[in-house]
Amino acid sequence: MTSNTASESLALIDPSAGTFSLVDPTAAHLRVDDLAPHRGDGIFETVLVTVHDGGGHVHARGPHFSRFRSSAQMLELPEPDERLWHEALDAVIAEHVSRHPDIEAFSVRYTMSRGVDHPSGWALSIPLDPAFARQRREGIAAITLDRGYVAYFGQNAPWMLVGAKTLSYAANQAAGRWAAAQGADEVLYVSHDGFVLEGPTSNVIVQRGNRLLTPDPKAGLLHGTTQQTVFARAAAAGFECTYADLRVEDLTAGDGVWLTSSARLCVPIRTLDGVELARNDELGTRMTDWVLQIDADSTQKV
Ligand code: PLP
Repeated sequence: MTSNTASESLALIDPSAGTFSLVDPTAAHLRVDDLAPHRGDGIFETVLVTVHDGGGHVHARGPHFSRFRSSAQMLELPEPDERLWHEALDAVIAEHVSRHPDIEAFSVRYTMSRGVDHPSGWALSIPLDPAFARQRREGIAAITLDRGYVAYFGQNAPWMLVGAKTLSYAANQAAGRWAAAQGADEVLYVSHDGFVLEGPTSNVIVQRGNRLLTPDPKAGLLHGTTQQTVFARAAAAGFECTYADLRVEDLTAGDGVWLTSSARLCVPIRTLDGVELARNDELGTRMTDWVLQIDADSTQKV
């Protein structure tokens, strides 16, 4: 996907000073020895923004920030100031919506790096990948790939930062290229001992009758905000929602399987390693509608 940075909006955030400013997204802002480009040493969140009546709404604003805070703790970065980060996020959204009055949805990625002498930060609007809308309609072909570690190994290896949303995504990107080279759309990571984990940028949910299941985040994956929203709203609608250890056979025997994330929403897996999976498009649409519901804090400043 190409992106025209000139049409995006950017806030530079100084977490130590507690300030931010809107800046030209095409100008240089980051030192080459900043530990984000240098080591991938930082954390980020990508939120979905939908626009209604000229105002931008952040979906799962609270859960995203909670995960940002917990990622900061895991990397021993300073605790992010909630007011500062939300104000910067809202400023980027307001500027972006005012520059693109017809825009319906986009993402904003906010990032804190370990910086050079002190942390640096920024929030940047990014376009939604148009492939996701097609994938929601048509489904995707996914292949399983070995994650290279056994399930739950992060429990005894906190330095591996399993469960933190860090900037070190080179391996996740490589997995995507690997899938494309095999003619597949996506990857589903499986632990070395055979437990389903997640996609490189998504979680997985399987339906079995009235139950929705997803792997336990402690098994070695990022606890997704989209999956959490789906579970909360599905539980309210009468589904039994459970975290469980799942094997590939649990997916192939399911009544529907989806990858979920803030930008892609809920995308059905059509085939897994070439095996056709059951589809429940009605539930998939319901799940996406749940994620698109607007929460009370979607426009709220702290
Ligand atoms: N797992 C990984 C590794 C991710 O990078 C992401 C999002 O980018 C997700 C899961 C889904 O998280 P969320 O639903 O909060 O977007």
